Amino acid sequence: MGAMTVHGNFINGAWVASVTGETFENRNPANPDDLIGTFAKSTAEDVGRAVASARGAYDAWRLTPAPRRAEILYRAGQILMERKEAYARDMTREMGKVLKETRGDIQEAIDTAFYAAGEGRRLFGQTVPAELPNKFAMSVRVPIGVCGMITPWNFPMAIPSWKILPALVCGNTVVIKPATDTPLSVVNFIVALHDAGLPPGVVNMVTGSGSHVGTPLIEHPDVKLISFTGSTEVGRQVAVACAERYKKCSLEMGGKNAMILLEDGDIDLAVDAATWGAFGTTGQRCTATSRVIVDRRVAAAFAERLAARVRTLKVGDGLDESIEMGPCISEAQRKTVESYVAIGTGEGARLVCGGKRASGKGFFFEPTIFEQVKPSMRLATEEIFGPVLSIIPVDGIDEAIKVANAVDYGLSSAIFTRDINRAFRAMRDVEAGIFYVNSSTIGAEVQLPFGGVKKTGNGHREAGTTVLDIFTEWKSVYVDFSGRLQKAQIDRVD
Ligand code: NAD
Repeated sequence: MGAMTVHGNFINGAWVASVTGETFENRNPANPDDLIGTFAKSTAEDVGRAVASARGAYDAWRLTPAPRRAEILYRAGQILMERKEAYARDMTREMGKVLKETRGDIQEAIDTAFYAAGEGRRLFGQTVPAELPNKFAMSVRVPIGVCGMITPWNFPMAIPSWKILPALVCGNTVVIKPATDTPLSVVNFIVALHDAGLPPGVVNMVTGSGSHVGTPLIEHPDVKLISFTGSTEVGRQVAVACAERYKKCSLEMGGKNAMILLEDGDIDLAVDAATWGAFGTTGQRCTATSRVIVDRRVAAAFAERLAARVRTLKVGDGLDESIEMGPCISEAQRKTVESYVAIGTGEGARLVCGGKRASGKGFFFEPTIFEQVKPSMRLATEEIFGPVLSIIPVDGIDEAIKVANAVDYGLSSAIFTRDINRAFRAMRDVEAGIFYVNSSTIGAEVQLPFGGVKKTGNGHREAGTTVLDIFTEWKSVYVDFSGRLQKAQIDRVD
């Protein structure tokens, strides 16, 4: 068992207790007796102090040349590389996913640091021809100001890094509110940024609940943008609150991701992909494979081979290298998973394996597979966010695409087939922001846009260069060097 530590908020480059001095506990979901630390239970007053700090640091940071800002991010990436193992262990302890995956989570932050650092010498705008003589026309990106960030617990460092690092290279300052279940990984991330030489006030962190910290952050008049990742329902509330205040708001929300397996697909490869996609991170990924839509001709063979594989998965404490699936994040989440097993059984789906709590002190649940699931069932349409997979039999690709699209979400999707024509057709017609051919629904890389359609997002994309459109505004600049007043659209001879 590791050490228990007391953590404060990070405001203006210093760790400080909440104004009330109150704290909350962070416990290990694989062993709730293991108290990881206490964290500041903050209120609107703490948020106010953090926003004032970010506001105070803004002008100096936005006027720091982007390549200089980028050097600090690059150093942060190097520091994260050095501390990868220690931070991965902290993350497994507070979040539960297995070490292999928490190392991947830190790696994603490292990748993002180096990618964002590269942008410091790009941040491309456009130069275009002007319609009048002796006139120059261009567009440049400008930062937005203080950015508020609200993040979930399932990617405790990767998701904060996707938001903070691009925001910083663009010249913004930040106040982040981490999920209450995983504040330690954000503390570690901020320590790395601080050690890399980030000036005080540029990044601030306030821990606490959605209502006591998240809401005041959204409502604060000096916060110009909210970047939120979390559930679709909370995202809707965030969007409404931002709309009322004319704030820019980017949302990354829920998913109900489908993998299509056609009759000519490689079944063994699909089994590997579904095992990883559905039960990696205990099914608690926004991109988790939640449905396998399979051609009826191979449905039984696929279900049988998948169940044989999944029954061997070792469930337990992710700090043990031999464990393949960790716990649910909390007892509440495990109860949700349990309720969906009851819902699925009640709807007439057939339980192939799992369906019960697994033994141990933590919030463990058996990897669970249902077959003969109908597309209209709640099991097949609602985000469960746990280790439950539905196998839905269909007749051919037309029905497969129709069923894939018959949900409110549109984050990730995949097809298994050896037929390039049908692969491209599905790529075109499946409603999702991310699409894989012959690979699992999880595995995004940081240099491509990340996000989804329908109730998964609101039109923005994180990662890639598209994230720069979240954290900058465009400014169009005209320089007239003719020495006289020229008038666009007017000065012309028709
Ligand atoms: P959640 O919506 O409960 O919480 C997300 C964050 O919002 C937390 O920090 C929480 O404290 C805060 N919050 C809660 N209520 C709030 C309020 N009223 N005002 C302001 N902030 C509030 O989500 P979660 O349980 O932490 O995460 C799981 C969800 O996140 C799933 O739906 C999953 O699909 C989604 N997710 C999406 C992506 C993506 O990129 N699309 C990535 C990861 C997770």
